[in-house]
Amino acid sequence: MGLRAGSTVDGRRSLREGAAKGMDDEDDSPDVWQGTLRALRAVEESLRCGICGDLFEGPVSLAKCAHAYCSLCIRQALNFRQDCPTCRAGATHGDLVANRALGDTVDAFRAARASLLAVSRAHEALVGVVRGDAAT
Ligand SMILES: [Zn+2]
Ligand SMILES: [Zn+2]
Repeated sequence: MGLRAGSTVDGRRSLREGAAKGMDDEDDSPDVWQGTLRALRAVEESLRCGICGDLFEGPVSLAKCAHAYCSLCIRQALNFRQDCPTCRAGATHGDLVANRALGDTVDAFRAARASLLAVSRAHEALVGVVRGDAAT
């Protein structure tokens, strides 16, 4: 008995790799971090692209201001406006620099996320039982 790392608590698998990007899945949001592990909300928010709101895909930084975006997101944005969507510093396709450290961090976080979330929810459920508010 006990929790198996890697299995989902509610039996659902989120479709993070799917074509539909966005917040339609409640699991796919920084708001899932509650209670003891709520500090992870800020960690996750810092790993999300300011254009699409999703975890960075192949992150690149702009040479002048160092703001980072998904490679595809910023390339599409620069087709419309030649500046940084966050700070409006001038930018062109030639200013894009691959951010490998950020990419590795996102990969590591993505790999750990499901297990961390399962641990977080199990912990909060146990805290609820101890408190006696098992009404839900
Ligand atoms: Zn993006
Ligand atoms: Zn910027």
